Amino acid sequence: MKKIQIAVDGPASSGKSTVAKIVAQDLGLIYLDTGAMYRAAAAVALRNKTGLADDIISVITDNPISFKNTKKGQLVFLGDEDVTSLIRTNEVTNNVSWVAAISEIREFLVAEQQRIAAEGNIIMDGRDIGTVVLPEADLKIFLVASVDERAERRFKENQLKGIPTDLETLKFEIAERDRKDSTREVSPLKQAQDAILLDSTGMSINDVVQFIETKAKEL
Ligand code: C5P
Repeated sequence: MKKIQIAVDGPASSGKSTVAKIVAQDLGLIYLDTGAMYRAAAAVALRNKTGLADDIISVITDNPISFKNTKKGQLVFLGDEDVTSLIRTNEVTNNVSWVAAISEIREFLVAEQQRIAAEGNIIMDGRDIGTVVLPEADLKIFLVASVDERAERRFKENQLKGIPTDLETLKFEIAERDRKDSTREVSPLKQAQDAILLDSTGMSINDVVQFIETKAKEL
């Protein structure tokens, strides 16, 4: 039977992972958060104070990135170490774009993502899924939202988690990450020609989920 592949790409904090997780659960798909893999690579670079691809890849080869679904949500591991919180720190968030711009790191992680995709029906979210990782995906969504709305969503999430943040700083950081991700030479963030553009500004999470699930059921 043909495998179902859904690609969800888009800029930072557009809600990709939130909706992809729900769609995965509703439709019984594997969910792969490719951003978490680049974040883990950035955490390795920072911890080992290195920007060399070989060093970073060697640590990840010895301590593979893996995911574990639990009641608390999806946990991310580097070898045996739970790095779920570490990869969401500001330091990692503000350094991930340069690590993700290194072509050898991308080749290494893309190969891993394609290997995981071969295991079954999958929904993956990231920046280059529809263009590079799964160019033959059955459904490609390019999810966008205004910078203001994305910053406000992140601000509210942080408030709920008790993380103090400044809204204007968030807006700046989100816009900066978009700029770096869209202008890098290797696999920049861009809408695949055959992707459906979905602007979620003013839409609820449920609206976005319904939209994707309706399209998926038409496959
Ligand atoms: O999706 P998330 O915001 O967690 O991704 C973190 C970073 O990882 C992005 O800002 C981008 O630099 C990088 N990334 C990427 N390609 C992907 C997924 C994420 O370059 N497929």
